[in-house]
Amino acid sequence: MANVTVNFIECKDKKPKPNADKIAFGKHFSDHMFVMDYQADKGWFDPRIVPYEPITLDPAAMIFHYGQTVFEGLKAYRTPRDRILLFRPEKNFRRLNLSSDRLSIPAIDEELALNCLKQLLKVEKEWVPKAEGNSLYIRPFIIATEPNLSLAPSQTYQFIIILSPVGSYYKEGIQPVRIYVEDEYTRAVRGGTGTAKTAGNYAAAYKAQERATKEGYSQVLWLDGVEKKYIEEVGSMNVFFKVNGEIITPELNGSILEGITRMSIIEVLKDWGIPITERKLSLEELYEAYEQGQLEEAFGTGTAAVISPVGELNWGERKIQINKGEIGELSQRLYDTLTGIQTGKIADTYSWTI
Ligand code: PMP
Repeated sequence: MANVTVNFIECKDKKPKPNADKIAFGKHFSDHMFVMDYQADKGWFDPRIVPYEPITLDPAAMIFHYGQTVFEGLKAYRTPRDRILLFRPEKNFRRLNLSSDRLSIPAIDEELALNCLKQLLKVEKEWVPKAEGNSLYIRPFIIATEPNLSLAPSQTYQFIIILSPVGSYYKEGIQPVRIYVEDEYTRAVRGGTGTAKTAGNYAAAYKAQERATKEGYSQVLWLDGVEKKYIEEVGSMNVFFKVNGEIITPELNGSILEGITRMSIIEVLKDWGIPITERKLSLEELYEAYEQGQLEEAFGTGTAAVISPVGELNWGERKIQINKGEIGELSQRLYDTLTGIQTGKIADTYSWTI
């Protein structure tokens, strides 16, 4: 199925590209999108590249009522030699299917999806920004489209890929962020949907983010939902700490999303011979390490920022500053390495880019 024909309807009315230094995240969209339908009796069918336009759904479409939907996020980068690179995109389609499985959505053919994405990018190559640090954000997603208010998985779906040129996450170089420890609201629990990229997880996080923003913090640190003791994620990123020379990241426990940046960083650290441990890490243990002068660096990881150093943590009234609020040496080195590979500026010895 992976080499199926993709129909193409060309957009007649091409849009102007946004100004390189004025791109707001997620607000500009390219001229075309990829769409494929699903019906229980036919499976996935009719893959097509069509003009980007609003879609019409029945008000009873199940996505609106019970949130049966999954999404992904990855980027296409333009190299100095004008090639267009994707970073481990097969992992995104793998994860999309894992998310779908959790939401009782039928799996897509991952190879076919990647092929279709490549075809879409060929059509839209001019939309991959040329300016340093800019990239084309790719948002594949699946929605339940059956008009039916019954509480049961939809019998019809749409798989769509849209493209959005985005600016550099860091306008003035990589910057440490201030983090608010969230000890009231919970992002995810074991057995819940935290390991899936599904809309509800993100809507349910707004309330905590609102409070953090009001207090002057940029993201929240999520704790486990049962004991409110162990560290899980930071905002919508995975999180790493450097304690006395060792790197620690919370182990995948059934409520943490497995980030593709996270898995790449673990591989790079192993490659560099830097000790990296995936295990449970309590906030109390982290604060103790700080008291003993052993907490050297902290950073979030994700597609958007790649590496986001944590300069400050606020847990109740216990505020701590990490690495004097500055970027750690390791954070910078990891950032330079990953972004170097993604943009083709340094050799991809891992064969992660295509
Ligand atoms: N955790 C959550 C909750 C996320 O939404 C993301 C972004 N996809 C991540 C972690 C980081 O994942 P990735 O490195 O694949 O972008």
